[in-house]
Amino acid sequence: MEEKDKENVLNMIKDRPQSLCKMCGKCCRVVTTEDTYEKILEKIENGDTYAKDFLSIFVPFKSIEDARKESAEIVDNILKRTSQKIEDITFYKCKYLRDDNKCGDYKNRPLLCRLNPFSPWSIVPPNCGFQSWLDEQKELKIKEIKHQKDNLKELKELLKIAKTQNQIDEINKRISKTEEIIAYYEKYGSKEW
Ligand code: SF4
Ligand code: SF4
Repeated sequence: MEEKDKENVLNMIKDRPQSLCKMCGKCCRVVTTEDTYEKILEKIENGDTYAKDFLSIFVPFKSIEDARKESAEIVDNILKRTSQKIEDITFYKCKYLRDDNKCGDYKNRPLLCRLNPFSPWSIVPPNCGFQSWLDEQKELKIKEIKHQKDNLKELKELLKIAKTQNQIDEINKRISKTEEIIAYYEKYGSKEW
C-alpha cells in the first residue's frame, strides 16, 4: 500500500469502534485482496512493506475449492459480492489463526490486521460485527465526496475570475487536492455519486 493510501485508510478508521469485533476469526480464516497474487508479488519486489507483511502471515489456498473446504460460507459471501473476475481471485488463510479462532501472535500482528476492515467497501464475512457500522461509514463517505464535487465546481468557477497569478496557483492547488480525493474513491464508484 502506498503511503498516501495508508494515510487515507488511517483517516477512515481512526474512529473505528473496536468493541464491534466479535472475535470470530473469520477475517483471518479466509480472505482475499483487491490485488491479484501476482500483483502482490510484484509489489513486494518493489519494496511495498504492506504487501510483504500480508504474505508473511497469509498462505494462499491452492484453489477456490480448497478455500471452500475451510469455509464455504466465507468464500461464497466474497464471490457473491466481489466485482473481481473469478480467475483473478486468490484466497488465503493466516498461519497464526488458532483453532479457538484467536490470534496466535496478537502482540506482533502487523498493521494490516489492526486496519481491518480497511474501508467501508471491504467485503467482511457474514455476521461480522462491523457490517452495519461499515454501511453507515459508506453513506457518510459518499456524502463527503458529493460535497467535494460541489467544492470542485466552485473552485473551477473561481479560477475563471481569479486576477493574480498567486490566486490562480492557490486555486489550482486546491483543485488538484480535491480531484485527488475524488479519484481515490473512483474504484468504489465515485464518478456516479
Ligand atoms: S470477521 Fe469481523 S467480527 Fe469477526 S473477527 Fe473479523 S472483524 Fe471481528
Ligand atoms: S496475525 Fe492474528 S490478527 Fe492477523 S490475520 Fe493472523 S490471526 Fe488474524
